[in-house]
Amino acid sequence: MNNPVPVPQFDVRALVRAELAALEAYTPIVPFEVLSERLGLPAAQIVKLDANENPYGPAPAVIEALAEYNFYHIYPDPQQTELRNALAAYVGVAAEHILPSHGADEMLDYLCRVFLQPGDAIIDCPPTFGMYSFDAQLAGAQVIEVWRRADYGVDVEAVERAVQEQPTGRVKLLFLTSPNNPSGTWLRDEELVRLLRLPVMVVLDEAYVEFAEHPSRAAWVLQHDNLVVLRTFSKAAGIAGLRLGYGVCPAWLMAELWKFKQPYNVNVAATVAGLASLRDLDYLHATVEKLKSERRRLSALLAEVSFLEPQPSEANFVLCRVVGRSAKEVKQTLERQGILVRYYNKPGLDNCIRISVGRPEQTERLMAALHEIGDLTV
Ligand SMILES: *Cc1c(COP(=O)(O)O)cnc(C)c1O
Repeated sequence: MNNPVPVPQFDVRALVRAELAALEAYTPIVPFEVLSERLGLPAAQIVKLDANENPYGPAPAVIEALAEYNFYHIYPDPQQTELRNALAAYVGVAAEHILPSHGADEMLDYLCRVFLQPGDAIIDCPPTFGMYSFDAQLAGAQVIEVWRRADYGVDVEAVERAVQEQPTGRVKLLFLTSPNNPSGTWLRDEELVRLLRLPVMVVLDEAYVEFAEHPSRAAWVLQHDNLVVLRTFSKAAGIAGLRLGYGVCPAWLMAELWKFKQPYNVNVAATVAGLASLRDLDYLHATVEKLKSERRRLSALLAEVSFLEPQPSEANFVLCRVVGRSAKEVKQTLERQGILVRYYNKPGLDNCIRISVGRPEQTERLMAALHEIGDLTV
């Protein structure tokens, strides 16, 4: 028998990348089933308005297509040809410009890893979606925050200054979200045109664009080599649980992403569901219309609540400033009745809640509970 080679003492944790060791752990949301048990309410009775999910779910044709599909034992098509062709028709940009992903989140991760190395910087415009700074930090980049104005619009001049203040080429990515999460704010064409003149790659996240009163800018990638537009099936198409998103990219970036992406990043179930969603656009458009009209109704009802200041929104949620009482208590009181909303207490979102647009009957339950809270006013 050989003598075991003595292993010198060493700290195995020191092998982990420094960027990662320095990062705070991500706080995961409580799973739906766990909440349902904790509240003692069946899942079906919970009014889940905290994650901008689509309460109508996918078209019945999607469920049928998933049930009928016979090739789950076969690996997916790494090029996603059929899905890309269907997406091309839906988005109005050729398939050569479209890359499907495991949710739009995966595209964010790819973009950060394609562009960023330690020492680089990104520009983030908070308050906004948290994944941009999360992925950028994981890649070792510095996150330069350019705060939105009080109306949640992007401070275009401050973004320009922030880029100019950095050594040339250090800022690689600028993340923009339209409609923005959690504010619902639209980024205007003139603002985007101006920001596209900066020597950075602009990532325009259009996760909620189907709900907007303005058209998508996906086709702009054909004119702007420094623009990539992200879209998803999670919100409008109602399959957040299946994870399907896509990037609409200039040709040169597609070439890089093809080298970079995992061959089987999009699974077969997501592909089948995505294709079936795109075959039944009547259903998709009808659900989007229901949610848009419910957003208008919800916003008007919320404006009547004495302690809420709903912000204008072009998405399937409404951000409310809570005045004269604690947003956290409002959130907790609602939660005890099985109504879930998102609560914030951070810069730009002091004492705020974000309410996703639900079905009319969910709005009714929410409003009844809010009025009960209002009646507690002394
Ligand atoms: C929900 C959301 C996403 C994530 O989409 P997935 O396709 O589910 O990964 C991306 N961006 C914003 C702003 C979102 O709110």
